[in-house]
Amino acid sequence: MGEDDARDGFARLGGHLALDFANTVDWRRRDCPVELLPSYERFLAWAQGAGLVDGRGAEALQRRANERPVEARTALARAWELREAIYGTATAVTRGEIPPPAALETLGTAARAAARQRDLVYRAGRFDWAWPALTADLAAPLARTASEAVALLLSPDVRRIRQCADDACGWLFLDRSRNHSRRWCSMSACGNRAKGRRFRARRSSPSAAG
Ligand SMILES: [Zn+2]
Repeated sequence: MGEDDARDGFARLGGHLALDFANTVDWRRRDCPVELLPSYERFLAWAQGAGLVDGRGAEALQRRANERPVEARTALARAWELREAIYGTATAVTRGEIPPPAALETLGTAARAAARQRDLVYRAGRFDWAWPALTADLAAPLARTASEAVALLLSPDVRRIRQCADDACGWLFLDRSRNHSRRWCSMSACGNRAKGRRFRARRSSPSAAG
C-alpha cells in the first residue's frame, strides 16, 4: 500500500512482526479484501523478508514445497488460520471487545507448539530464544510468528495496538507516538487519501465544512 513497500512487495508498517503478518490482507474492510499471500511462495517471501528464515532456508523450504504441493497447501492454510487468529484477536483488542474464543485457541495452540521448538540461548551479552531452521517443516516460520504474537498480547504494548482509521484499509499497527495519536497505518497512503477526501468534500459542499 503506497510507496513504503519494500522490494518484496510487503509494506511492513505495523511496527511488530505479528501485526505485519496480519496485514498480509489488503483492504480488510472492503467486501472483497485482497489476499497478499495467495501461494506458499509468497508466504515464504514474506517470512524471509521478516527475518524468520534465511536465504538458504527459504530455498530448501521452496524445494520441498515444489516436491510436495499438498503439504505446501496445508502449510499455507495454517498460515492463513494463524494470521486470521492474530487479526481477530488484535482487532477485538482495539475495540475493547472480548477476543473470539476460536482465535484465542488457535493462537494458544500455535504458541504452545512453538515453545517446544525454541531454545534459550545467551549470546552477545543477552538472553534470547533461538529457533531451529526446520527445513523439513513447511510451516516452520509460523512458530516464531505465533510466539511473537502472544508475547505482544502479554506485553504492555497490547494497549498500543490500533487499527487504521481508513474505512477500507483495516491494517493494524503499534502506536508508538508520544501522545498516542497515530491514526493511519501510513500517512503517505491512508492519511493522505483521507485528507484528499476531506478536501474534496469541502470544495463540493462549502457549508458542510468541519
Ligand atoms: Zn491504512
